[in-house]
Amino acid sequence: MNKTQLFGINIDVLDMSGAVDRLRNWIEGDNSGCKYVVTPNVDHAVLFQENALLREAYEGADMVLADGHPIVWTSMLSGKRLPERVAGSELVPQLFDSFNRNGTLRVFLLGAAEGVGARAAENMKSQWPNVETVGVYSPPLGFEKKPEESEIILEKLAEAKADVVIVGLGAPKQEIWVSQYADRIPATAALCVGATIDFLAG
Ligand code: UDP
Repeated sequence: MNKTQLFGINIDVLDMSGAVDRLRNWIEGDNSGCKYVVTPNVDHAVLFQENALLREAYEGADMVLADGHPIVWTSMLSGKRLPERVAGSELVPQLFDSFNRNGTLRVFLLGAAEGVGARAAENMKSQWPNVETVGVYSPPLGFEKKPEESEIILEKLAEAKADVVIVGLGAPKQEIWVSQYADRIPATAALCVGATIDFLAG
C-alpha cells in the first residue's frame, strides 16, 4: 500500500474515491475479521505522541485517512503528497451514496448521545433508501472502563449483522476500543469517525 509518514503516523495516500473503492472491496470481498479505519487530524496527532494505546490502535488500522487540511498541507512539503483531505464525516455519506446507487449496505451506528442515532437513522432512510440502519446504540459514559459494557456492545453488533459499524465515541476512545475488540467485531469494517453520527442526525 502507498503510504506517507507525517507526525509519526503512516497515512494512506488515497483520495476520497480511492478510500470509498477500498471500503467497497472489503465489503464485497470474501473477508474474515473486521477491518478498521482511523481518520487523523492534528489533534489526534498531538494525542498520538503521548498515548501509547492510540499509537497501537493506529498501527493496527487497515486504512488511515487524513481528516485535517493541515495534515494534507504538511504532506506537500514531504516527498509523498496526499491528494486531498478525506474527512470521516464526508467519507461516510460518500460510502452511502455509492451503495445507494449500486447495491445495499447494512449499517450500525455506535455512539453519540442517546436518541441521536435514531434521528440519524430516520434521515438516512429518506436520503439513502438502499442503506439500512440495522442497529443503533449509545454506550453509557465510562463504558470503556467496564468490560461487561463492551460485551453488551458486541452482543448488539452480533444481532444486527451489519456490514459497517460507524463508530462515533470520540478520540482516542473510539480508536482504542475498536482496536482492542476488532477481532471480535462481527462486521466487515468499523469506521472511527468522531461526530459523524451527529452530522447524520442533522
Ligand atoms: N461520544 C460518545 N461517548 C463518549 C464520548 C463521546 O458517544 O464516551 C460521542 C459524542 O457524543 C459525539 C462523538 O462521540 O457524538 C464525537 O466526539 P468528539 O467531539 O470527541 O469527536 P471528534 O473530536 O473525534 O470528532
